[in-house]
Amino acid sequence: MACLFCDIVNKKIPADIVYESATVLAFKDISPQAPIHVLIIPKQHIDNVLGFTPNDGKLLSDLMLAIKNTAKKQALENGFRIITNTGQESGQEVNHLHFHLLGGRKLSWPPG
Ligand code: 5GP
Ligand code: ZN
Repeated sequence: MACLFCDIVNKKIPADIVYESATVLAFKDISPQAPIHVLIIPKQHIDNVLGFTPNDGKLLSDLMLAIKNTAKKQALENGFRIITNTGQESGQEVNHLHFHLLGGRKLSWPPG
């Protein structure tokens, strides 16, 4: 099955990578919605949060620590937001789990 983010993981499509480990990749969003807008994804294909299984504990920990490390590396000590769109009504466009890391400006609440 063709998947844009799998292609980025496999380096078939270029991306501005800011963090990489054995299990996780983080790269800049092509259409940034804030001064810092990074996508953090598992290297293995999972559609979205609904695809998690009880065996994914290690991967979840890897993802959360990657988010923390990326936020620190991007100097977001004044605050940031993590968003994971899940399913049609959320506006999820790429069906490969990704966490948006947004920061570098005052973020309004609630999101639309
Ligand atoms: P979603 O709407 O699924 O939550 O977010 C998908 C995100 O992927 C969007 O913010 C969009 O700008 C980003 N995106 C789409 N295509 C590409 C691409 O080819 N490269 C990168 N780096 N980001 C992409
Ligand atoms: Zn994928």
